[in-house]
Amino acid sequence: MSKGSLFVISGPSGTGKGTLCTELLKQDNIFLSVSATTRDKRVGETEGVTYYYTDTESFKKMIDAGEMLEYAVYSGNYYGTPKKAVCDMLEEGKNVILEIEAQGALKVKDLLPEAVLIFVVPPSISELRKRLTERGREDSAEIERRIEAAKWEFSQSPKYNYVIVNDELTRCVDETLSIIKAANERQQMIERLLNEI
Ligand code: 5GP
Repeated sequence: MSKGSLFVISGPSGTGKGTLCTELLKQDNIFLSVSATTRDKRVGETEGVTYYYTDTESFKKMIDAGEMLEYAVYSGNYYGTPKKAVCDMLEEGKNVILEIEAQGALKVKDLLPEAVLIFVVPPSISELRKRLTERGREDSAEIERRIEAAKWEFSQSPKYNYVIVNDELTRCVDETLSIIKAANERQQMIERLLNEI
């Protein structure tokens, strides 16, 4: 069986990465890694589906035990990708998506250069501020912190394989699916050629 492929979807908070991932997950062979976080659970979120919620001490223990593929501190909280689940899904030949912020995305690229990094950007900063305000999850100070964090994230965009503008969700989804399809086809072709040697 072919090994699966790893895709990292990153981009400033409020660009619509979550909505994009929800759409991608409607495909048969696309799976999302569930991260661990120390931030509080929000209304409408589910333990083990949205995140694994934990405290800082337990999170640090997971880091020390080598259980995290990557982790980062974002807006005062730890977020990290549990390694085992991702490795298992890749072994099963699945397309695995990590929806993570830029520091973590770049760590994944260092560790696994074959990972495909996709950077999702908003059409403008005023649109980003509008989306963050309208979703009503963060107060105005937190919104400004997230926009401030976006500055550094934008500066890292040359390190990504692809940059996608999320101005229209359907187009953004189609573009991402084309990227996934192309990566799968490339891998299958190389595996076929290697098998012929
Ligand atoms: P939120 O608090 O809005 O759910 O997430 C804040 C940021 O943390 C988002 O940009 C999200 O993509 C990122 N994030 C979620 N899980 C992880 C993870 O496992 N690792 C890293 N590095 N970032 C994550």
